[in-house]
Amino acid sequence: MLKKYKLAGTLAREAREFGVSHAKAGVSALELANAMESLIRSKGGECAFPVNIGINEVAAHYTPSKADDVLLKIGDVVKLDVGSHIDGYPADTSATVEIGTRNNQSLITSAEDALKMCVEMIAPGTTLSAIGEAVDRAICSAGFKPIENLTGHSMERFNLHAGLSIPNVKTKDRAFVEEGMILAIEPFSTTGSGRVKGACRGNIYRIMRDRRAPAEISTMFSRMQSRFGSFPFASRWCDDLHPNASTLLPKMLRMGMVMNYPVLSEVRGGIVAQAEHSVLVTKNSCIVLT
Ligand code: MN
Ligand code: MN
Repeated sequence: MLKKYKLAGTLAREAREFGVSHAKAGVSALELANAMESLIRSKGGECAFPVNIGINEVAAHYTPSKADDVLLKIGDVVKLDVGSHIDGYPADTSATVEIGTRNNQSLITSAEDALKMCVEMIAPGTTLSAIGEAVDRAICSAGFKPIENLTGHSMERFNLHAGLSIPNVKTKDRAFVEEGMILAIEPFSTTGSGRVKGACRGNIYRIMRDRRAPAEISTMFSRMQSRFGSFPFASRWCDDLHPNASTLLPKMLRMGMVMNYPVLSEVRGGIVAQAEHSVLVTKNSCIVLT
């Protein structure tokens, strides 16, 4: 089990590093996401969710559609968030790059420093509130704001959000981390006011429940279940599931068979940076898997 978490972590890290080194002006978001996802699959892993490419004020849940024509450009602050799984055991990691300029370097560093601090402090007994407080302090002392309504999360087999939410601000949560937990720690920093909201429908979906439906929908649904299970997936991953996939997916959404993740943007349009690792809580500390 641990071996699978570790391999998932290695593949997610390799995909992240590939993304960071290939994120250049003129590269398309679609090309980059496809290449990062292919790297995971080529090494025997599966994607635990579509590669999220969050540009500037977009914090999370944007993945390109197959017709996407977004190109990275000079000055963009780009979050590359990637997840892999081995036999259901997930890993989740992200990094932020600025394309060709260094105007937001201290913003990016503030998220990275907050993540480092979390990794140093996490051990059995560390409270979630203490983690949030440390993130808050690290980011505010650099002159930015943490995003208060985005959190890290515990993970389990086939489950990316397994119950614990790990805050980026101080809270009253007395819950604490325990040995053996797998946690995704993900501080977000912003030049804005520190909140995100759903901006528009995204291209990321997840299965909700089976419903009585026309045959072609039921056929596609069962293929989705066996391919994606409980993990989020991209609309562009559905093309080979059914010839009418692009019209069936919106129908399944209206029927409540799948849910859609709205694209999350900073409420004031602030630039957003993110850093994320998956860690395993050990007897006395934690180890980074990604
Ligand atoms: Mn992530
Ligand atoms: Mn995460």
